[in-house]
Amino acid sequence: MTIEEGVELAGFTTLGTGGPARAFARPETEADVEGALRWASERGLAVATIGLGSNLLAADDGVDALVLRLAGRLAAVVVDGDGIRAGGGAANAVALHRARAAGLGGFEFACAIPGTIGGGVWMNGGAYGGEFSQVLERVRVVSADGSGWFTPTELGLSYRHSDLRHGQVVVEAELRLHPRDPAEIKATVRELNAQRKAAQPTNRRTFGSVFKNPEHELSAGRMLEACGLKGHRIGGAEISPKHANFIENAGGARTADALALMAEARRRAHEQYGVELRHEVEFLGGLELPPLT
Ligand SMILES: Cc1cc2nc3c(=O)[nH]c(=O)nc-3n(C[C@H](O)[C@H](O)[C@H](O)COP(=O)(O)OP(=O)(O)OC[C@H]3O[C@@H](n4cnc5c(N)ncnc54)[C@H](O)[C@@H]3O)c2cc1C
Repeated sequence: MTIEEGVELAGFTTLGTGGPARAFARPETEADVEGALRWASERGLAVATIGLGSNLLAADDGVDALVLRLAGRLAAVVVDGDGIRAGGGAANAVALHRARAAGLGGFEFACAIPGTIGGGVWMNGGAYGGEFSQVLERVRVVSADGSGWFTPTELGLSYRHSDLRHGQVVVEAELRLHPRDPAEIKATVRELNAQRKAAQPTNRRTFGSVFKNPEHELSAGRMLEACGLKGHRIGGAEISPKHANFIENAGGARTADALALMAEARRRAHEQYGVELRHEVEFLGGLELPPLT
């Protein structure tokens, strides 16, 4: 496995922003991951694993870590009885396709989540009433302290949250599904995709929901819309005119632009509603939002 230097993360995030990783590797086996973790530990470097970068803001001036992007066997999907075994780097779309072909339902919600299995576990990704915690049987995690299988409860999965920390690599997950007619699965996915297209900017570069929904009668999107933020632009980043909880790369955006928009959105939501919005998007490279005053 080659360890590369200076790989620009902009090529690995759906927003299309982010500077170079200090080191970058594409492990294809669990042994590769263990080797990469050892390599980083010998150099005192942090490790972060990325999936399809669909929920990721990486610092413009780079990320001082070994960044892993799982490939090969660690991105494969195998049907196994009434479930599937998927590598942490497997795209949800591939896992869903395999499940449908095998007549296995329960993962349809993931058609809305353009990430990987590992990213879905980390975020406990969910949509349309489904979420990863409902379908996960167990998850294999490799870290410098060793490897093991964990249940969703042991991983602390809750609303868009797990207790996983950087340096813990989700290499495989077993999903428990149930028999369903492939034609019905296809129809459900078509219907969910149509709903998604009507409500969200699906043909723009974004990173999905910016903020988690607060405990409030308004969702984050409705709240930011009511703050008059739709179409608000800083640099090349713009609050989506279609859905205010999305930030679009309107051309030449930098991570700093997106971060500045997020700070402004939080400030206004706090001012108008007294709500402290918490970001759903993950940060890499020491990014921070200014405190609310
Ligand atoms: C248009 C659009 C719509 C979206 N809609 C939804 C939605 O409806 N519901 C939803 O939940 N999300 C949604 N998202 C957000 C995103 O797709 C999910 O959060 C997804 O689970 C992230 O997966 P990823 O592979 O892209 O992870 P990344 O964005 O690459 O990483 C996210 C986090 O997971 C960690 N990570 C990734 N892979 C691993 C691994 N193998 N081991 C350990 N850590 C890992 C990363 O370090 C990072 O902290 C949407 C995004 C977009 C762009």
